[in-house]
Amino acid sequence: MKISRTRTERAVVLRSIEYGDKDLIVTFLMADEGKRTAIAKGGKVSKKRFAGSLELFRVCDVTYSEGSRKDTMAILKESTVVEDFRHIEASFDKIAIGSYGTELTRELLRDGEGQGEILDALVGFYRRLHHQEEHAARLEADLHTFILHLLGLSGYAPQLTHCVHCGLAVDQGQRLLFSRRGDGALCQPCRDSGQSTLDTTAPVLLTLAELSTGYADIEREPVPVALLRQGRQLVFTLVRAILSRDLRSYSTLKMVMP
Ligand SMILES: [Zn+2]
Repeated sequence: MKISRTRTERAVVLRSIEYGDKDLIVTFLMADEGKRTAIAKGGKVSKKRFAGSLELFRVCDVTYSEGSRKDTMAILKESTVVEDFRHIEASFDKIAIGSYGTELTRELLRDGEGQGEILDALVGFYRRLHHQEEHAARLEADLHTFILHLLGLSGYAPQLTHCVHCGLAVDQGQRLLFSRRGDGALCQPCRDSGQSTLDTTAPVLLTLAELSTGYADIEREPVPVALLRQGRQLVFTLVRAILSRDLRSYSTLKMVMP
């Protein structure tokens, strides 16, 4: 016998795609259930049941029913916005950066994963972008902080302060490299022949290490653009190594981080 149950929980929208003329298929990161996809019948047209809640940058309370099997799509009954981030939605740069962070979260998680710290990290990232001034270097630093934090929570933290092979501190290294496998810094003598690497420097690695510990103090001078640009190459190399491809939102991100 098929049992269906209805439940309500806090959730963040990870993606919303049109399905037919009226429906939406929405992927959420839910407080209890983790990543979960639901169909919102009439989601494109029903203002009453969903009230603008099925878009990116929304924290919602969602009510849905599901069958007895975990792998079937949930049916969304109702959704209301609990928190939105208007200063993200008013800025092309913030939308591009926020969309990239959201897509990365979605792609790193399997269904049923992501409750707790990852959900908190994503909401924290939106709040940070919402309050951050419209300043390219500060916004980019925030993106790197979020990516490195998320990768750490997902078990992909790169080694940034020491050579992954011999443990030499990067500020002691003569010539430094970053492994395209995504595991972290390498000193020149530890590079295997044929291993694909990027050249880097101790200041770049240590800047990323610093950003990975938390959002930069807003009172302080922003991280120099030259360091961010070099750090960016390592961060996106890391994402590419983990996912084996670039994210869709990367092409838009490149427009705001030229
Ligand atoms: Zn080494």
